[in-house]
Amino acid sequence: MKIFMDGKLVDERNAKISVFDHGLLYGDGVFEGIRAYNGRVFKLKEHIDRLFYSAKAILLDIPMSPAHLMKATLATLRANRLRDAYVRLVVTRGVGNLGLNPRSCRKPTVFIIAGKIQIYPPELYARGMDIVTVPTVRNLHSAVNPAIKSLNYLNNILAKIEANNAGVEEAVMLNADGYVAECTADNLFIVRKGSLLTPPLSAGALHGITRGTVMELAAKQDMEVLEPNITRYDLFNADECFLTGTGAEIMPVIKIDGRIIGQGKPGAVTRRLTEAFRNLVNNSGEPIYK
Ligand code: PMP
Repeated sequence: MKIFMDGKLVDERNAKISVFDHGLLYGDGVFEGIRAYNGRVFKLKEHIDRLFYSAKAILLDIPMSPAHLMKATLATLRANRLRDAYVRLVVTRGVGNLGLNPRSCRKPTVFIIAGKIQIYPPELYARGMDIVTVPTVRNLHSAVNPAIKSLNYLNNILAKIEANNAGVEEAVMLNADGYVAECTADNLFIVRKGSLLTPPLSAGALHGITRGTVMELAAKQDMEVLEPNITRYDLFNADECFLTGTGAEIMPVIKIDGRIIGQGKPGAVTRRLTEAFRNLVNNSGEPIYK
């Protein structure tokens, strides 16, 4: 496997990071997870834009332009002869000394991995997922804003461990006010009386690219799309529920905290949006091979 590492494509065994990189020592950095389908990269520009927004929020100067990063992403996919792939693009604060002060880090480290991903077993998409709310609260805006896709994912990882401990695959994270924020790596949607509802970004949800795509697809299908604060009560009484993410795509949810959602199987709206999503990802995006 070829990895893009600080401007060059190198062999996997030579793609190494210093133990003094602050991405490792302090989780100081930002990242994106991007998907390629059928020889095209889905929403590449949107992912690169979000990477730059995350970097701006943590005062990290990415040493490459957005156009150059897009080219590097495509080149990494080509070097690995991939048409369907998951891309991880990472920018760390770079190599510094042992203190946390980023002033000692001269140059950010940039690397891109293009590989495969299968987060959940295929049967789960047909059956639907059982999820729980967990005690770990989503990061406060006033602490580390959840809009920043940073290398510091402990907030989400703790919630994921709590889901594992409860014997389920995914966790619903509430914010400090008790409203639904999102899941550990996915945004959450419910369907109620024909309308599509998802928590507002202000509730602590990531500005998910799949989230935005699904909202657009629903609007095209003449559905009302709303972003109100959502409580656990709203989840339990939803007609349908599903999760969205670059890795997970669209995952139906059939049980939350022991309450069966709707008919206890993937609902009609979820299935309709999934079909529209599949159609879109297979027929749009930046061509890898021109
Ligand atoms: N929330 C979190 C915390 C995430 O890490 C992700 C995955 N990047 C998402 C939501 C979904 O966002 P996207 O659709 O852009 O992958």
